[in-house]
Amino acid sequence: MKIKDKLYHLKSSLPSNVVLVAVSKTKPVSELMQAYDAGQRIFGENKVQEMTIKQLQMPKDVKWHMIGHLQRNKVKYLAPFVSLIHGVDSFKLLSEINKHAKKNNRIIDCLLQIKISDDNNKFGMSIEDAETLISLDDFENIKIRGLMGMASFVADEGQINKEFKKLSLYFDRLKKNKNEMDIISMGMSGDYKIAIDCGSTMIRIGSHIFGSRN
Ligand SMILES: *Cc1c(COP(=O)(O)O)cnc(C)c1O
Repeated sequence: MKIKDKLYHLKSSLPSNVVLVAVSKTKPVSELMQAYDAGQRIFGENKVQEMTIKQLQMPKDVKWHMIGHLQRNKVKYLAPFVSLIHGVDSFKLLSEINKHAKKNNRIIDCLLQIKISDDNNKFGMSIEDAETLISLDDFENIKIRGLMGMASFVADEGQINKEFKKLSLYFDRLKKNKNEMDIISMGMSGDYKIAIDCGSTMIRIGSHIFGSRN
């Protein structure tokens, strides 16, 4: 199937409140343009350099989401244009983003990444740390829009379900104190249906649209 057809097919199956991020990492601009021509405007990348290069080549109305782990010394390259940073997992990173957002005279939307899987090598903070960060509320040039999480890479759907439900409950809890939060970013090609059942409002889909990566 063509990228365009896969995209239409996927989009028509999504509830209207779920936002689709097309994860285009490792894919050439020509393939991103096929998705763009089919109406897709939100693209997710996980490497700063790759995203900045593609940003220069793609139309200006694309919204770029940083979905990968972000190093503090690279924030400056994204700050002028990034639309949403999904993987914020420390106070230090948040303050660096704030600093560069200010320099660029912008307010940058961020999601706090919460560790919901038992997997050891997953980034993310605890919900307690996220609560503390949110309560500090001293980053003028940042808007925390919600939470992001990744489930374990396992076949056990019950396990995945449990982890996504956990994130959803955390989100509800935080939202009580911070009402403007509106995004739960969870779900990838392999588990987005479970994620949507658990309350996801934003899914990050790569291989299901663009085919597998090398
Ligand atoms: C690569 C990636 C995705 C997309 O993965 P697919 O399985 O190809 O849909 C989603 N989220 C993050 C954080 C990723 O790094």
